[in-house]
Amino acid sequence: MPDLFELPPPPVIAMADSEAKFPVGRIFCVGQNYAAHARELGFEPQRDAPIWFTKSPAAVCLSGSTIAYPPGTENCHYEVELVVAVGKQAFRIGVDDALSVVIGYGVGLDLTRRDLQNKARGQGHPWDTGKDFENAAVLAPLTPAPEFGVPERQGITLTRNGTIKQQASLTELIWSVPELIADLSRMYHLAPGDLIFTGTPAGVGPIAPGDRLVGSIDGLTDLTLTIGEAE
Ligand code: MN
Repeated sequence: MPDLFELPPPPVIAMADSEAKFPVGRIFCVGQNYAAHARELGFEPQRDAPIWFTKSPAAVCLSGSTIAYPPGTENCHYEVELVVAVGKQAFRIGVDDALSVVIGYGVGLDLTRRDLQNKARGQGHPWDTGKDFENAAVLAPLTPAPEFGVPERQGITLTRNGTIKQQASLTELIWSVPELIADLSRMYHLAPGDLIFTGTPAGVGPIAPGDRLVGSIDGLTDLTLTIGEAE
């Protein structure tokens, strides 16, 4: 029997300077992974365990897009992040080996309906409506891992309409990229197609119709996003 309907194919992310494309499987994200950002949200930075949440592939939006101001929110925030693209299977991988499964790196925006996230958090409810919505996972083209090198001292910046709003160094990550991969792989069989958003630095804030956002990380392709009127 045929399927009742066809689902869209998975979103694909371009690899910089290459014909190759990266199909998106799962999207894992970590919260409060820069101390100054944890504090601006009102929390003390902690090293107990990474704070994981997920977005679905349906949330992917490609860099260069113009999107409508997201529905259901009056306080949608930008969060620029380093995104790690997994190209090999990994289960219970050690920190020392973890970078071997990374195929590329990119700049991402973890768009967040902060009002919905804060309300859910206050009630002890899941964050899904605050984090996993259409166009909430914005992705720039990926740079192959050997070209980028090891994530360590690269600068990460977000500008809103030409003004710097977020500026930090990847040295400030509370959980390093290898630590994040190792921790996730204790709970999931990581596989090619998985993406990991590694957290945002301090300086998050609201977006508005007419905004032009540019996310940058040294050595990676810039991310751009334009915000249109609400639908
Ligand atoms: Mn984030």
